[in-house]
Amino acid sequence: CLAGGDSGSENIVVAVRVRPLSATELAEGKRSCCDVLTRNTLVIRKGADPGAYLRSQKGSANEYSFDAVFPPDAGQSEVYEGTAKPHISELLEGINVTVFAYGATGAGKTHTMMGSERVVGVRAGDEPTEVSGIVPQSLVELFRLLTARANIGSGQEDEAETWSVRVGYLQVYNEQIMDLLSDSSKPLKINEDPAKGVVVVAGLAEMEVTSSEEVLDLLRQGNANRRTEATGANQVSSRSHAVLQVVVTRTLENAVSGNRSVRESKLSLIDLAGSERASATNNRGEQLRQGANINKSLLSLANCINALAGNRRRRGGKGPGNVKYRDSKLTHLLKASLEGRCRLVMIANVNPSHVFFDDSHNTLKYANRAKNI
Ligand code: ADP
Ligand code: MG
Repeated sequence: CLAGGDSGSENIVVAVRVRPLSATELAEGKRSCCDVLTRNTLVIRKGADPGAYLRSQKGSANEYSFDAVFPPDAGQSEVYEGTAKPHISELLEGINVTVFAYGATGAGKTHTMMGSERVVGVRAGDEPTEVSGIVPQSLVELFRLLTARANIGSGQEDEAETWSVRVGYLQVYNEQIMDLLSDSSKPLKINEDPAKGVVVVAGLAEMEVTSSEEVLDLLRQGNANRRTEATGANQVSSRSHAVLQVVVTRTLENAVSGNRSVRESKLSLIDLAGSERASATNNRGEQLRQGANINKSLLSLANCINALAGNRRRRGGKGPGNVKYRDSKLTHLLKASLEGRCRLVMIANVNPSHVFFDDSHNTLKYANRAKNI
């Protein structure tokens, strides 16, 4: 991911979002163990007494800084604008953009990516944009940019520029790739063209789309498939990675020479499995396998990001280090989005409840590893 380089801006953006405690949680006596100090820093403390923290731990290892830290009262637009928005236009420059939400179940990943079910379940336009998540807002922006670009054209008189968009939606569950836009429940394989370095999910349904509403319709279909596939929707969504892939293709055709050039870039929008299972040790049998596999994908993702950040640090020195994309389905799938010209936006979601201190602390440590140093 880190080869490219418009100087001054980082290829990996790491943000943290702390969700509010719900009325029910407050009524149950849950207290927040996270304090957002500035736009870039927060602290987490094991005890629930803020005074104790402020007196004894300032500057301790429990203070973290990130590219952005969103407090509980940050709205959906603020989070979108501070994370994904600046990078949607980069897709039109041929850069692969990946946005993913990391965190324990209940920390706010789906809310951040999709907005609430209720909101996603209505037609776009019925609700104020304030309540929709990064996925709908990014799609609206992408099609807005493409429409503007189509009106302007390539700027070269002899060259005709056309854009097309296609969408695939899949989940990685138990280290198997399932197509969410197809009725078949057969796991799909990843094919890699070693010469070109291209990774393809063989047989994945890809739908040509012309508007953000069409994509949201496909997402709804896919989410319905996600539900019927397994015993409990919550169990599936907490154990699987949901990956929406939006492929943007630009075709340039020269009227004089007849030359044609095609360039693709990919926007990957990912609602990761709950990270609490990455450290769960009390599962047995099938559950252990699922837990272990999710552990594998999330650990693998961290290892890849860390290795890439390491390569960047060594830039100009030794060649690229060994990044083990093939260690898990998720990282193999993302290979082309993690190397070459790309942008990675990670949003670490945190539930501030003091009873989830361990999960939240682990999330912050994971996010901290992903930062550019
Ligand atoms: P996850 O997908 O990580 O399991 P959810 O996105 O489902 O978590 O969030 C858990 C609950 O908290 C949901 O009821 C959701 O609506 C609510 N929630 C999450 N983030 C926010 C937020 N920033 N503001 C208000 N409610 C939120
Ligand atoms: Mg969720």
